[in-house]
Amino acid sequence: MELNTRTPVQYLKGIGPAKAKLFERLEISTVEDLLHYYPRTYQDRRLYTAPNEYNSDSLVVFKGRVLRTQLVPARSVLIFKAFLENERGEKIECTWFKKRTYQAFRFDPFGALKKDFTLNSEVWVIGRRENKNNFFGDKITVEEQYPAADVLSELHTGRLTPIYGLTEGLTNKQFRLFVHEALQTEALSNEPEILPPSLLSKRQLLSAPQALKAIHFPNSQAELESARRRLAYEEFLLLATAWGIKRTQTKILAKDYHYEIKKNLLTPFRENLGFEFTSSQKKVINEIFADLCSVRPMNRLLQGDVGSGKTVVALCAMLLAVENGYQAALMAPTEILAEQHFLIFKRILKDLPVNVAVLTSSTKAAAKKKILKELAEGKINILVGTHSVIQDDVKFHNLRLAVIDEQHRFGVKQRSKLKEKTSKLDLLTMTATPIPRTLALAFYGDLEVSTISELPPGRQPIKTETATSKLAYDLVRQEVQKGRQAYIVFPLIEESEKVSAKAVTEEFEKLKKVFPQFRLAMLHGQMTQQEKESVMADFAVHHTDILVATPVIEVGIDVPNATVMVIENAERFGLASLHQLRGRVGRGAHESYCVLVPQHAGSVAKERVDIICSTRDGFKIGERDMQLRGPGEILGTRQSGELEFKAGDIFKDKDILYQAIEDRDELLSADPELTQPEHALFRQKLRELYQQNWHLIDLS
Ligand code: ADP
Ligand code: MG
Repeated sequence: MELNTRTPVQYLKGIGPAKAKLFERLEISTVEDLLHYYPRTYQDRRLYTAPNEYNSDSLVVFKGRVLRTQLVPARSVLIFKAFLENERGEKIECTWFKKRTYQAFRFDPFGALKKDFTLNSEVWVIGRRENKNNFFGDKITVEEQYPAADVLSELHTGRLTPIYGLTEGLTNKQFRLFVHEALQTEALSNEPEILPPSLLSKRQLLSAPQALKAIHFPNSQAELESARRRLAYEEFLLLATAWGIKRTQTKILAKDYHYEIKKNLLTPFRENLGFEFTSSQKKVINEIFADLCSVRPMNRLLQGDVGSGKTVVALCAMLLAVENGYQAALMAPTEILAEQHFLIFKRILKDLPVNVAVLTSSTKAAAKKKILKELAEGKINILVGTHSVIQDDVKFHNLRLAVIDEQHRFGVKQRSKLKEKTSKLDLLTMTATPIPRTLALAFYGDLEVSTISELPPGRQPIKTETATSKLAYDLVRQEVQKGRQAYIVFPLIEESEKVSAKAVTEEFEKLKKVFPQFRLAMLHGQMTQQEKESVMADFAVHHTDILVATPVIEVGIDVPNATVMVIENAERFGLASLHQLRGRVGRGAHESYCVLVPQHAGSVAKERVDIICSTRDGFKIGERDMQLRGPGEILGTRQSGELEFKAGDIFKDKDILYQAIEDRDELLSADPELTQPEHALFRQKLRELYQQNWHLIDLS
């Protein structure tokens, strides 16, 4: 049977239906999938060195002759030993362990080993040297072994050897054989070259079959690098091109409405504000206004560190819409934040003829009915809310501008629903988790980015340190006595709001005894909306001194008189969360503090805490966070696979990424729809990848 790339793996020699199930777990169903399942890492088995030259836990690779073997029964394990002599006459003892199981009595667990280690035969052994010196010579715990006579042993030894990320029931030894098998088939020579020949020669890239062969069984480090380069370039070029096409497609749309800067609302709004915009804010407001006034729909990301003043910028944009008789909506990820935005808007807009309403899933039925009616009639100018705002029963009169606050907090589903709803609108998304420039370029190719690069004047740097609870509470006491306020935050437990609510309630009771002289309040996700609102409102006007909370307060909360943020069990928070939480203080003119109280710090946790203590630059923190967790996780796209790269790494391979973007631009300017014959395969691959599951591009 002639195999092609679409052949199910079970037809490869040695796989069969049962093994194919295991491959499914790795999301490998066809030969093509197998060829594109790249090694997780490589072991350098090129050097043949005697075991006594190795450090205690480095890899040992050698060839030896079998002197004798022995089966040692122990209480719970079975041990097989082989005594070898290498070419230099050194003696080495090799050991294998097997758990004693019922099966082990019925089948000989070492059957295969005994076959490999017949007396006087030559075998390759890969293992780790055991620390203690041994009477017989060196002692090795064996990882893999091969009869030297086996022609395929060269797949496993004497080379850079691929190590795959596997599932139980599959071994690397088998897997290499299967990949080798796949590489021998017609499938490899049939592997289509999707990259246009001009780019292959321009960038001096390996062909697809060459690259696949070399990524699995590289003949040298240099060949491995070339293979990775080719495969990463291909991934980047595909994604960048998808975005490029998407961008031209959105640009074709023209708005059937337009804006004029009238200032009948904007001017009094500025006078009400009580502060001057920073020059950074002015710059981004101009960028946003230019977009709004252009004939193309806006799709702009506003990024600015925590506390940089994004809300008032968004409000400017919304007021421009209202000046022109249009409606605007602002969507926030939590009810608390939506409520807070609503209150702040009402306060700033108090005397202006702008009607603002708030809609969340806790809005009572009667109130909701009224809001929906007034929205449809155009009586409400600005609607603030959670994702309730994009539900199907919400009909606007003339919504033209949508603002999404803390956009990274919305799930993929909500975002795609929003995309549907807002494709003909002006869209402003805001985030304090900045996107590194490389990522923005490649992945938000259709998105313009504005950045607020400074904080409002007079802000004091936030002193960040780790401390014990006791020291942290001393600081809280000191600050509250001075008339300031404090947050004490506990982590979410097991991702469950219920359990966390209970835990935080217990802590709250304890803390009331720690601070008997102060007014404490508690906030968690299980409270009713009304309770939450009144707690927040009391805290905002300083009717309470200390707010004990779960991370519900993580984003957006803005109480300038609060100067202490105590984060309990700090090691359980991610980098972005720690930075956001810290951003709740330092919002006024008073010196502010963030105290991290770790319980027990693992290494990654410690690294996170160290980063937070040493920098307050949200961009640095964002980039580090992305490196620690991966971009897909952070942008909430992990499940959709948008940012899953198999070969490329957007941080390490920046140069390749830039090349791909440059080539994408040339490619699309020469052939915008990719209709030229030499681009046919590339186009087909793009469609396969992005059309059905991503709704990203329309290549019919
Ligand atoms: P974020 O960018 O984190 O959403 P906010 O919009 O909540 O920040 O702003 C943080 C605080 O700074 C708010 O209290 C806001 O009123 C205040 N603020 C915003 N712009 C300025 C400015 N130009 N001068 C002084 N204070 C400002
Ligand atoms: Mg904000």
